Amino acid sequence: MRRYLAASAALTLFLLAPASAAAGEILSTDVSVADAVKRSCIDAPLSGGQGYAARTATAPASGWVSARLNARSGDWDVAIFNTVTRQRVAGSAAFGASEIAEGFVARGDRLTVQACRRSGAASSAKLTLESDAVKASAPQELSLVRVATPSAARKDELTRLGLDLTEHGGAGFVEVLLHGADDAKALREAKFIFTTTIGDLAAAARRDRAAEQRAVASGNVRAAAFPSGRTGTYRRLDDYNNEMKQLAEANPGIVKPITLPERTFLGRTVQGIEISENVRARDGKPVFFQMGVHHAREWPSGEHAMEWAYELINGYKARNPRVVRLMGRTRTIVVPIINPDGFNTSREAGQATGRPGGGSQEIANLATPYEYQRKNCRINNTAPDDFDSTADDDPAEGDCVQAGKPNVGITQFGVDPNRNYGGFWGGPGASPSGDVPGGDFAQDYRGTGPFSEPETRNVRDLVSKRQVTTLITNHTFSNLVLRPPGIQAQGPSVDEPVYKALGDSMAAENGYASNPSYTLYDTTGGTEDWTYYATGSLGFTFEIGLGGFHPLYADTVAEYEGTTAEAGEGGGNREAYFKALENTANASRHSVIKGGAFPGAVLRLKKSFTTFTSPVIDADGVPGRTLSFPDVLDTTMEVPASGDFEWHINPSTRPVADQDIGRPPNGGAPSAPTNKSGTASQPPCPLYFEAPNACRTGVTDEVFEIPAQQPGAVDNGFATIKLAFPEEADLDLEIYKADSAGKATGAPVSSSASGSNPEQTTIGPDPDPGKYVARVINYTGGTTYDLNITFAGPRPFKPGVKETWTLTCEGVDGKVAQSRQVQIDRGEVKTESFGAPCAKVAAAAIEKRDCLPTKGGVRPRALGKARLGRTRSRQRRALGAKRLKSHKGIDRYCVRGGGEMRIGYPTKRLSSKISKRSRKRVRRKAVLAISSSKRFRVNRLRAGTSVRALRERLRGEQRYRVGRSVWFMMRGKRSRLLFRTQKGKVREVGLADKALTSTKLGTQRFLRAWDRRGL
Ligand SMILES: [Zn+2]
Repeated sequence: MRRYLAASAALTLFLLAPASAAAGEILSTDVSVADAVKRSCIDAPLSGGQGYAARTATAPASGWVSARLNARSGDWDVAIFNTVTRQRVAGSAAFGASEIAEGFVARGDRLTVQACRRSGAASSAKLTLESDAVKASAPQELSLVRVATPSAARKDELTRLGLDLTEHGGAGFVEVLLHGADDAKALREAKFIFTTTIGDLAAAARRDRAAEQRAVASGNVRAAAFPSGRTGTYRRLDDYNNEMKQLAEANPGIVKPITLPERTFLGRTVQGIEISENVRARDGKPVFFQMGVHHAREWPSGEHAMEWAYELINGYKARNPRVVRLMGRTRTIVVPIINPDGFNTSREAGQATGRPGGGSQEIANLATPYEYQRKNCRINNTAPDDFDSTADDDPAEGDCVQAGKPNVGITQFGVDPNRNYGGFWGGPGASPSGDVPGGDFAQDYRGTGPFSEPETRNVRDLVSKRQVTTLITNHTFSNLVLRPPGIQAQGPSVDEPVYKALGDSMAAENGYASNPSYTLYDTTGGTEDWTYYATGSLGFTFEIGLGGFHPLYADTVAEYEGTTAEAGEGGGNREAYFKALENTANASRHSVIKGGAFPGAVLRLKKSFTTFTSPVIDADGVPGRTLSFPDVLDTTMEVPASGDFEWHINPSTRPVADQDIGRPPNGGAPSAPTNKSGTASQPPCPLYFEAPNACRTGVTDEVFEIPAQQPGAVDNGFATIKLAFPEEADLDLEIYKADSAGKATGAPVSSSASGSNPEQTTIGPDPDPGKYVARVINYTGGTTYDLNITFAGPRPFKPGVKETWTLTCEGVDGKVAQSRQVQIDRGEVKTESFGAPCAKVAAAAIEKRDCLPTKGGVRPRALGKARLGRTRSRQRRALGAKRLKSHKGIDRYCVRGGGEMRIGYPTKRLSSKISKRSRKRVRRKAVLAISSSKRFRVNRLRAGTSVRALRERLRGEQRYRVGRSVWFMMRGKRSRLLFRTQKGKVREVGLADKALTSTKLGTQRFLRAWDRRGL
């Protein structure tokens, strides 16, 4: 109950705001578009021509507008334009036909909604347009401040205040985004010293967007700075999807679209592209996974991921030798926007803020709070009634822009996707549900369980199904290249030397600091907490830049290019990403299984295990039960035609299992405890000090010793220092190494400033022996204290264990022929070949998969699975088998049990000879299906039957001699039955289009069209 009261106090502002109008549908219609046209729907309002339909509407209220479009199949896009200014209000250009376009509008804006049909059979779509009034809240006072955190304990304490911590921090500070005076008050009450970096973030953003517009207008932008040539300002969500679509369409050999399995809360698909030479093969190349925008407001992180895609694609097309070499040996998967709901909210708010022309101030005021959205768009419904007096007005799931609801400041809807990964989930540096500040409305809310969010499950799915050996997840801002662990207590990873070397080599390019992640502050549930510890993939978090979440676009370009002061001689993130890709290609940085097997056989590497969370910290900050969940890594490759395979994979042992825990005891005992009592120094410190010794008055130093290890006599695994004091006092504790004179030296090695009594801290494992200073810091009036130092033996030794992959050789139908366990370490190459047992199963499966079934037989319009009148692309999809050959008008397939099938489509020559009407009717559609399989029979007639028997059975047939064949044709109600004969026997049985064979001349033309193509 307590938290509900606390929440309402923080949210008074919003509760007093008038209730918003409910979501209103302003358009709901079916649109029909006769022809599909492949072009961009989002660039500009279309006029004239085909391929789209447009509707108009007027925005009934200032706020949020959303268009949804759904068609049964194909690729459709949608965009909303301001009819007068022709500016894009919102757009959606996903790969399929399920689109959501959302943006901000002013009341009275005239809107044109444009629905575009790009491909596919569906010629109509459902289109709706909704409007949500958004009330402007009190002017936002967003500011960025630098908070002094002289010790790890103070950083911990800061993370527990429930403020909006940025990822910008360093030795002794963390930058915090304050969402108003209450946040500043919370800092002051906790005795934090802070200085303001940016006083009015909203004004700074407006200036940045305006400067970007001016630069574009004046032509004063450096051309082709980014590989894409993009200048001006940040992409919007539809730009990303539109570009990925165009890249995939224009470069089918090297770019493949990827749609991750789970939709977001709003129903969006999460999309990416895979880039490699021969991209559609399953060839066992190692994978580099490049991601952006877990955090919605961190726009540069999506830009850099996207530009990397252009870097590779353009480099490959220009035959840049380095790119060609790397694309031949690796695969890159780019998912620029992991959190599209949150990103769209943030980016569209930024767009509205920078909107030129009339009414912009009103829109800027109501959009600004949303520009700093960080999390996803789960609507936390743990206490829905706290935020609205009407219980039945719970917010809709997924809608980040909740009119009149508290979605700003420290109380923001959503889950932090980068605290929701399952590895070590629920530990320090992530907020549990519960108390406000903090709780589910905290900026680092971890979610209700490990992998509770679609965004993290999407990444988990991809990483579980591919051998991702290198990974970068991009964020802003702090000029950091971070590697695991996220918490100091985890200790250095088993791969620390190779990990550090790679991180350092990338940091040498972009000028960032290369560090373990916990050096920023302890976090759990971050991306690499699972991706690295569960798969061994070498993953990094990049914190791009120093200029804020989304600074001037030119700054983001400079970070990529390496023209910042910090990058110095380095090549920026472009070169850092090249380092990552070169690492991906470097077999000594992962593992390789190679050998021989039947061409076309499927090899599978699989591993099932249990992943554990941290002891899950509850709302009171107390660690509780550790949770566990099952994990399965399941990846495949196909043996190439040569029969020699080479599979680049992650090591078989998970880093979390490989790591030793504790150490064996040395036969000695822990040292005896030391107890000291004293009186705290006067007068007390006014504030927590920023630098050591800044508070000279309230400090008392006590010297103590940690005895050295002596095998058989002394074994000190850990030392715990406890400071107890009277109830009314507030003392903190810091531990320093002592110099020869017994004075504190250097930075604190440990500290405790939790506000609890006693303050307590543990150093170890295996603390350096010698003299230490325990510094007692007094924040209240005179008081006594007791200092108690105890020692403990080492943590029980649990040596790391080695694990194996299960390697199987299978048919394409999943039938397992052979299975073995393979243990393989990083840098190791192992040979595993598969002989006859696998070849037999694989060959049978290939025949079964690649040849057409004869099921269905000969029907009026269908021969087995092939159907007359079906478009070529649909036919190919429906048959799903491998084509033996495709030549102009003929697709050839094998048939199960022997024989072939050929499906004919109108050739140019044939088309030129038939009527315009017929031409239109049969365009791209199957008009002939014919097979030499003996399993297709009509009245016991089949391939192999003698011509004599054929003629006896057939009555009223027509005969045509074409080339060396004689064709027999029977009239049917819906098509013609065909028999091709040669040398006295039936060779093929099939069907032909009725209308194209209605005259003798037409039939001869028809048959000749294919006969001359080597029937
Ligand atoms: Zn981030």
